[in-house]
Amino acid sequence: MKVYFTGAGPGDPELITVKGLKILQKADILIYAGSLVSPEILKECPKDAKIYDSASMNLKEVSAIYQKMKDKKGIIVRLHTGDPSVYGAIQEQMDLLTMWKIPFEVIPGVSSFQASSATLQQQLTLPGVSQTVILSRISGRTKTPQLEDLALLARSQSTMVLFLSVDQAKSVEEKLLPQYGTDTPVAVVYRASWPDEKILRGTLGNLASLVEKSGITRQALIFVGNVLDSEYEKSKLYDAAFTHGFREASQ
Ligand code: SAH
Repeated sequence: MKVYFTGAGPGDPELITVKGLKILQKADILIYAGSLVSPEILKECPKDAKIYDSASMNLKEVSAIYQKMKDKKGIIVRLHTGDPSVYGAIQEQMDLLTMWKIPFEVIPGVSSFQASSATLQQQLTLPGVSQTVILSRISGRTKTPQLEDLALLARSQSTMVLFLSVDQAKSVEEKLLPQYGTDTPVAVVYRASWPDEKILRGTLGNLASLVEKSGITRQALIFVGNVLDSEYEKSKLYDAAFTHGFREASQ
């Protein structure tokens, strides 16, 4: 028996990887995260596969499935939304499997921040604007370490992508304003890659009111940073005066 922690992608069933899809098509047991995984993806697993919705299960219950299967043959697919490495809570499951000597593998997925950038048609790193992307969240029920307080992370004025924070847009605005200023562009992407996807655009100064008016309280990402503006230096990679590994400069 082997467990595959698999990224389901952000929602669109075509955004699971080929590797993820192939393993899903061979699954004996599928454990998936409720509302965040498209029912279309679930159709891919064999008809006789056992399917569990992890939304109503705790770690102990999920682990009990692994333990029960330990000495049997088969494939367990643990499907996570987006990429499992980002707020996926797989570490504790992997630690248990290591302890129980159950083999496992991680198959990455397209994260919602990547799907949202695609929706926004936005490059997150632009020369002369920002060369860093901060993936973070506002402190919530899971406390962020003090040194990762958004007000501190804001000091670099990097491109910032906030997960699990749209319901606290007012606090996000307050924490980021002193460093980024009111005019820094923001975007909120709700359910990127789903049929009911929505985009909000504005500036940091009106982030909270924008979110409030939209009624969005979950399943959205907040993007903050000057990359969302149109002013930037053109990339060196395509600049004729710049030599890189594959091409000599022509001037
Ligand atoms: N592992 C996931 C993140 C899980 S945390 C990933 O890589 O995307 C759950 C949070 O992710 C949500 O609160 C929301 O902030 C974000 N999220 C997940 N799917 C999303 C989507 N399709 N569009 C926008 N945000 C999404």
